[in-house]
Amino acid sequence: MKFVDFVRENQLGDVVFHQKFKELTTIGCGGEIRVCYYPKDVESLKKAFVYLIKNELRYFVIGNGSNVLAQDDFYDGVVIVLKKMPYDYTLEGNILSVSAFYPTSKLAYDLAKEEIGDLSFLGGIPGLMGGAVYNNSGAYQEDISRHLTEVTYLSSSGTIETISQKDCHFGYRRSVFHGLNAIILSAKFQVCHKSTLDLLEQRKKKRMLTQPLESKSMGSVFKNNALISAWKVVDALGLRGFEIGGAAVSCKHSNFIINLNDATSSEIETLIDLIQKRAELEFGIRLVCEITRV
Ligand SMILES: Cc1cc2nc3c(=O)[nH]c(=O)nc-3n(C[C@H](O)[C@H](O)[C@H](O)COP(=O)(O)OP(=O)(O)OC[C@H]3O[C@@H](n4cnc5c(N)ncnc54)[C@H](O)[C@@H]3O)c2cc1C
Repeated sequence: MKFVDFVRENQLGDVVFHQKFKELTTIGCGGEIRVCYYPKDVESLKKAFVYLIKNELRYFVIGNGSNVLAQDDFYDGVVIVLKKMPYDYTLEGNILSVSAFYPTSKLAYDLAKEEIGDLSFLGGIPGLMGGAVYNNSGAYQEDISRHLTEVTYLSSSGTIETISQKDCHFGYRRSVFHGLNAIILSAKFQVCHKSTLDLLEQRKKKRMLTQPLESKSMGSVFKNNALISAWKVVDALGLRGFEIGGAAVSCKHSNFIINLNDATSSEIETLIDLIQKRAELEFGIRLVCEITRV
């Protein structure tokens, strides 16, 4: 593949063959990938990304893979894996600049140690900052959009652009990036002085009790309906603990589907489909997925 030669000749990072999505996603499912590209820095990423776009090669961007369900079939393209990129944050006055490759839960703890608040809602969300911005991730009635001031991203033409919070068009687990061929590079947030370590610890204990953190999952599978939480719908269908092949609705949290025993993506899809069909048929409720499929 010419892309691989291009990366190697220009020393733009590492390429790995025969890697599977099951090794790159927290749910542990998904087939083999033609080429995984691990950029070494932003400049390299920029050159490689422009090459992919110009040559119209199929690609997918993955952070920590904590919200991705990849098909079992061979992925005939390039997966840009961001989890080995260098990351940091800087603080100027009350504006915090965070690299898109910063693991979000680690960020919450790192900031708490310096009494910088309040991105503590990110504690326990196992992604990178880019994925959190892409999805407007959130918890405890908070989300990224509430604190973010601007985002810097790599556009498909290779330019580095910055847009304001307003232009991100954030919604429930949505942002403008769902419709752009772009790679988020960093984000700025308005922060304050606040002590959040105790809160993080309390929430961590609660997550351990209420979420199947010991199992492979993608977090919540369905968006909460305006009137009712998705887990209540799944429970009302009597599907808590229900299994199809190696996939199961978690007994701890019925909006989580877990990979119990070497599940395939198609088993997980069958379970999702069954829940959606029954919710529609029995309660007239349309459960919308909040995961990304590839
Ligand atoms: C146990 C568990 C608990 C969770 N709890 C929560 C929670 O409380 N709240 C919540 O909102 N989510 C939660 N999630 C879901 C998930 O962690 C978040 O959506 C997270 O922000 C995804 O980040 P990621 O780096 O893993 O993204 P990935 O899963 O790698 O990617 C998700 C999407 O973002 C895109 N993307 C990733 N990085 C970039 C980038 N730099 N530029 C452009 N596009 C990019 C990908 O192409 C993909 O479409 C949970 C997941 C798990 C497994």
